[in-house]
Parts: sequence; C-alpha cells; structure tokens
Amino acid sequence: MYDVVIVGARCGGSPLATLLARNGAKALLVDRARFPSDIPHGHFIHRHGPRRLKAWGLLDRIAAVAPPITEQLIDSGDFPLVARDLAVEGVALGYGPRRARLDKVLVDAAVESGAEVRAEFNVDEFLFGGNRVAGTLGISDALRDADLLAAAIAEGLNGRRPFQDALADYERQRNAESAREFRQNLSAARFEPVPAEFLRIRQAVRSDPAQATRLAMARVGMIDPQTFFNPANLQQLLGATG
Ligand SMILES: Cc1cc2nc3c(=O)[nH]c(=O)nc-3n(C[C@H](O)[C@H](O)[C@H](O)COP(=O)(O)OP(=O)(O)OC[C@H]3O[C@@H](n4cnc5c(N)ncnc54)[C@H](O)[C@@H]3O)c2cc1C
Repeated sequence: MYDVVIVGARCGGSPLATLLARNGAKALLVDRARFPSDIPHGHFIHRHGPRRLKAWGLLDRIAAVAPPITEQLIDSGDFPLVARDLAVEGVALGYGPRRARLDKVLVDAAVESGAEVRAEFNVDEFLFGGNRVAGTLGISDALRDADLLAAAIAEGLNGRRPFQDALADYERQRNAESAREFRQNLSAARFEPVPAEFLRIRQAVRSDPAQATRLAMARVGMIDPQTFFNPANLQQLLGATG
C-alpha cells in the first residue's frame, strides 16, 4: 500500500517522489520508459531549476556532466539585451545536460530517498474506489513545481490541511514565483551598444534567408561560428550589399 503513486519518472515525477519520500511518505514511482533514456526536449535547466537542484543536493551531479551557462542574450529587434555573470552563490543561470543524464540523476535520487521505482511499467487505466480523481495539474516548470507540489501533498497526507486547500495554495505560490522570476530577470539584464559591424552584417542578411539562418545558427552554436564569421564569408556578404 502506498501513500502516493506517481506516473512518470522524469523531471516532474522523480523529484516529487524524492521529496515526498524524504518527508516520510511511501511513494511508488512508475514509468513506461527504461532509464537512462533520452527524450527530444527539455534539455535546458533554467528558471527555478538550478536553485532547486542545489537545495536538494543534486546540482553537483548535474554540473559534473554539463557546464554552467552564465550568459543570456535576447535579440528580437534592433538591439541585443545581454546579461552576463548570471550566477548566484555558485548556481548558474542554467545547465544543459541530455535528458538521459538529468533524468538518471533524478531517478537515482528518488531511489536513494526511499521511493520505490518501477521502470517499463505502463499505466493505462485508473481504478476508482472510495476516492476520486479530482482533476489534473499543469506542469510549467517541472523542478520548481515538483518542490511546491511535494509540500502541498505532504500537508494533505499529514492531515494538516484538506487536499483541495493545499493544492489551491500550490497554484497561487507557483504563479507568484513565476512573476518574481520575470522581475529578477529584467533587473539582471542591461542594454549594450551593438558593434557597428554587427549591425551591418544583420542588415546584409535581411535580404538573404540562407545567410540569415546561418547567422542565427552560428550565434546559438548550432554550427561552428567560424563557418559564418570568417573573413571570406563576411567580405562576400558585406561586399554584396556595399
Ligand atoms: C520541444 C520542447 C522543448 C522544451 N525545452 C525545454 C527546455 O529547454 N527547458 C525546460 O525547462 N523545459 C523545456 N520543455 C518543457 C519540459 O520538457 C517539460 O516541462 C518537462 O519535460 C515536464 O517534465 P515531466 O516529468 O512532467 O514530463 P516528461 O519529461 O514528458 O516525462 C513524462 C514521463 O511520463 C511517462 N509516462 C507518461 N504516461 C505514462 C503512463 N501512462 N504510464 C507510464 N509512464 C508514463 C513517460 O514515459 C515519460 O517518461 C520543452 C518542451 C518541449 C515540448
């Protein structure tokens, strides 16, 4: 008999199981997948995630496989908005491990905390008894939400509050944390003058979709920056537009 059964053992479910188990709940964590395994999304841990991992004692394991990312550039128009040195008390803005690595760390932590994990276990039906399924919860920031949700479920399990009240508070707190995070990001950002040459390059690629794509890919590291920012290419590009 379990206090909680959690379906899905990746970045939402595993931390939830860890926190509930650390809180004394008997938690069963199931997933149809086998671990470690990759999925093609959710590779950048940012927003509340890094701070949560640190608080749970797991950030070192992630930092060991993915370097810290401390710079952010938002460029949606005529001027880039750049924030640098985005690290607070050793916690960087973000980390980008493959999901196979991130999820393995999180599943391992759940097991170490006392949760029972069953991989390759597909849940395809709910059995309704005296209790009922009361609704669904949207996950917007999996690690942060797991933290807040674990606290809310623990309050319900301990009988300190009715589940409905605890879950309503969870939603309020989640929304308030999102608003606070956006304000923090804005205060960390600052405008920087754009080098004149870069403005010319950007102007030049506006009429050339293939070059514009290569510029974007070079800037985010999807291709080697030198394949775009090499003198021959720039000369051809800038020469073509005068
Ligand atoms: C294209 C894309 C890019 C994204 N990029 C980012 C990003 O860079 N950074 C970020 O923070 N977020 C990103 N997200 C969001 C992020 O991926 C999700 O918030 C996060 O994966 C949610 O975690 P989760 O554990 O709830 O679900 P998932 O990571 O999707 O895991 C769900 C698990 O539940 C299991 N499961 C589902 N149903 C059953 C069942 N019936 N029985 C057994 N097991 C089941 C699945 O096998 C799976 O392992 C992205 C999302 C998308 C779609």
